[in-house]
Amino acid sequence: MRKFDGDHLVIASHNKGKLREIAELLATFGVKVSSAAEHGLEEPDETEDTFVGNARIKAHFAAKATGLPALSDDSGIVVDALGGAPGVYTADWAETPNGRDFGMAMEKVWTLLDTKMAPFPRTAAFKATLCLAWPDGHDEIFEGEVKGEVVWPLRGVDGFGFDPMFQPLGKSETFGEMDPAEKNAMSHRQDAFDKLVKRCFE
Ligand code: IMP
Repeated sequence: MRKFDGDHLVIASHNKGKLREIAELLATFGVKVSSAAEHGLEEPDETEDTFVGNARIKAHFAAKATGLPALSDDSGIVVDALGGAPGVYTADWAETPNGRDFGMAMEKVWTLLDTKMAPFPRTAAFKATLCLAWPDGHDEIFEGEVKGEVVWPLRGVDGFGFDPMFQPLGKSETFGEMDPAEKNAMSHRQDAFDKLVKRCFE
């Protein structure tokens, strides 16, 4: 396991929600972070069909292009009654000719569950894979998850993506209703991040 001993990390993402959360998670380590956009990087095609595969593509692309270590996140929501969909394709389900529409994507998930007459609770999990890659091609992978259920109607305006549809196990609020700090403390990203910190930062 390679330690991170630099002082600058590129966050290999163009997703503002993820950038904000990852920067907050890294804040206590005194590491300077910059985003892929600040380096003028394009978004590489995510051609793999696993979270690990796509996380690797994004982190290695950014590390090679900048000459700096890069941290990527590939994540999504896995709905049990849909056989794990949308999963790695979570962002794709929101694609429209005019950009991403997560309201539409969440409605699609709920409609499919209704069509299948899926029983309640409609269990799901958010999953996140972090990849820390170095310019020499080495990488470290960390996986995290938070279990819960998808709900309808949507609740809450905080967060991003599928947050208003996801209620974590044992909680009465969705991620969209929760204070961001409360979400961050229990999220799939935090779970993966804790493993990253333990192995690469401590
Ligand atoms: P990707 O990792 O860029 O392929 O995109 C993953 C997608 O999963 C995001 O665009 C979000 O819609 C969704 N997602 C991942 N993590 C979260 C989260 O913490 N809250 C809400 N949606 C999320």
